[in-house]
Amino acid sequence: MTISRDAVLDWLKSFADIIAQNKDYLTQLDSDIGDGDHGANMNRGMQAVLTALPSVADKDIGSIFKTVGMKLVSTVGGASGPLYGTMFMQMGNATAGKMELTLDDWVAALQAGTDGVVMRGKAQLGDKTMVDALTPALNSLKDSAAHHASIPDALNAAASAAEMGMKGTIPLVARKGRASYLGERSAGHQDPGATSSYYLMKTAAETWNK
Ligand code: ADP
Ligand code: MG
Repeated sequence: MTISRDAVLDWLKSFADIIAQNKDYLTQLDSDIGDGDHGANMNRGMQAVLTALPSVADKDIGSIFKTVGMKLVSTVGGASGPLYGTMFMQMGNATAGKMELTLDDWVAALQAGTDGVVMRGKAQLGDKTMVDALTPALNSLKDSAAHHASIPDALNAAASAAEMGMKGTIPLVARKGRASYLGERSAGHQDPGATSSYYLMKTAAETWNK
């Protein structure tokens, strides 16, 4: 079993949908510890991605991801725009020329994407950022791939790991981004970026397991 290009396109649409549905929730989370724009930022970006997808729908997965990354960089703004943009551009590099993805390909893509986020934002695990959802998901996927798990099992486990990472940001004190300006007062709130990153993993599991 592999992840087809059409499945990748469906995932991006499904991510755009879940962001649109949870725009106000993400904004609420960001109002608590930031400036209340994460929902609007991500929704603006993903709606722009949706309009761009038809023009690259017949290209390889790497080209699709690169287009997504460039759209996000140019439309999302804030801290998350360059971070999500870099993530998708690096995922594009890792999947250049591919028309379908094996589990190992997806692990390599998410590794490149997460490395890109870390390189750009310099956040470590526990800094209360999107890295706290992405890194556990990546580690879970690597573990699944090493144990030759099926793609559905691997994706479900990765989504659960991202969810735990997201919830795990609640007690943390932010050390990166706007939330870090609050110091100790950032504790007790779930990180908005970790939440949108959990949605990425959740929609991947839901879409690719169909
Ligand atoms: P801004 O903070 O500029 O308003 P957003 O509200 O769109 O941008 O995004 C905020 C999210 O970005 C945070 O919840 C956090 O997950 C993520 N973030 C901020 N800075 C960093 C960083 N240096 N590394 C990783 N993620 C970060
Ligand atoms: Mg914000």
